[in-house]
Amino acid sequence: MNSTPIHSPSGAGQTQDPNSTSVVAIRDLSHSYEIATGDLTVLSHVDLEIERGEIVAVTGPSGAGKTTLLSLMGGLDRVQRGTLQVCGHELATLSGDELAEYRRTTVGFVFQDFGLLPTLNAAENIELALTLAGVARRQRHRRALELLDQVGLSARADHRPSALSGGESQRVAIARALANDPQVVLADEPTGNLDELASGRILAMLMELPKDRGCTVVMVTHNTSIARQCDREFVLASPSEVVS
Ligand code: ADP
Repeated sequence: MNSTPIHSPSGAGQTQDPNSTSVVAIRDLSHSYEIATGDLTVLSHVDLEIERGEIVAVTGPSGAGKTTLLSLMGGLDRVQRGTLQVCGHELATLSGDELAEYRRTTVGFVFQDFGLLPTLNAAENIELALTLAGVARRQRHRRALELLDQVGLSARADHRPSALSGGESQRVAIARALANDPQVVLADEPTGNLDELASGRILAMLMELPKDRGCTVVMVTHNTSIARQCDREFVLASPSEVVS
C-alpha cells in the first residue's frame, strides 16, 4: 500500500458504500511502467474515494506516482490492475473512442505548463476544446468569450499565449478546462510555474469550482500550504520500485 489518506473533514471513508455519492472510486489500483531494467511499480494497491464537490490534494515526494494517478483518473493512461470509476464510468472497460469522449466531456485538465497551443489566440484555444466536443461554430465563439469573461480575460481574447502572462495563461487554461462543463477538474501542479500573486488567484478560482459549478477538484501539489487549504489531502508515500 503506498497511499495514506490524511485529514478528512468530510469523513469520507475509504470503503465503498453502495449508496455513496462518490464521483471517484478507486480500488486496489496498481500501475507499473516497463523500463529497460524491468517493471517500475509506481502505484501499489491504492484506494481512494472522492465525494462530489470535494477538493482533494494529491501529495507525496517526487516520483511517488501523483501524475500517474491523475493521468489514470483522466483517462490519459489505461488502468492495468484494480478498478477506477469516475462519475460511474469504469475506465478499464471503456473503448478507445469512449475514453476519448470521457476525456472531452467528463473531465477538464489544468497543467503546470498551461498546455495552450502557441499558434492560437486565447479564444481559439478554448474554442478548440468545444470543437472537439462537437459544438457548432457560432456557439463556440460565444461560449469562449463567456468563459474568458468569467476568468476576467475578455480583453485578452485575441492574444496568443506568448502575449499573456503566466497567470493569464493559466486562467485561459482553466476556462478551456471548463468549456465542456466537466464534472471533475484534474489539475497537475496548477500553480507550479506562477508567482505568489498569480498563484493565489488561480488557487482561488479552483477552490470556487465546487460552489460555482458543482465540480469536484483533484489537484496534485508539492505545496503544503495549498494542500492544507483543500478539503482533504491524499498522500502517495512510497517511492517507486523496480522488479526485474
Ligand atoms: P510524481 O508525479 O509523483 O512525481 P510520476 O507519476 O510522474 O510521479 O512518476 C512516477 C515514476 O514513474 C517516476 O519514477 C517516473 O520517472 C516514472 N514514469 C512516469 N511515466 C513514465 C513512463 N511513461 N515510462 C516510464 N516511467 C515513467
